[in-house]
Amino acid sequence: MRCKDIERLIIDSTWKDLSREELLSIKEHTQQCAQCTLFQSEYKKLRLSLKNNPAPALPEKLDHSTREMCRKALNLQKKSTPTIPRFIWGVLAVLIAISVIMFVPVVTDLRLDEPLSSQELFVLTFLIQNTVMLFFTPILIKNCRAKKKSRLKHF
Ligand SMILES: [Zn+2]
Repeated sequence: MRCKDIERLIIDSTWKDLSREELLSIKEHTQQCAQCTLFQSEYKKLRLSLKNNPAPALPEKLDHSTREMCRKALNLQKKSTPTIPRFIWGVLAVLIAISVIMFVPVVTDLRLDEPLSSQELFVLTFLIQNTVMLFFTPILIKNCRAKKKSRLKHF
């Protein structure tokens, strides 16, 4: 094996397991070749010093300002997450109460063999409309907000 091959093997041995023959050829070659022996020991030293060197520290000022920036960004995110205003819960409660008050007498009067009266029809329509709105409003609000956000990102 030439010196170049041996150097390649020495470098390879840092990240993969060499075969028995490869290890043997390194050993045999370095016993006769001073240059490759030097290369092997220098390479070992270099690797050790790289391993022992700690990661470079960030200057204190930069570290502090980066942390501060991250904290501010997190706070902004927290503030911008929308909460449902209390009056919406109030309106919802009133709507549910009205629905129940209207629904109970109609249900007790309801007979399947008779056609629906106009009042029953109205109450049922009202209930179905409310239910549909209740399910779809959150989705509509979400879509609307997503659109607004993407529009803001464009500017
Ligand atoms: Zn050599």
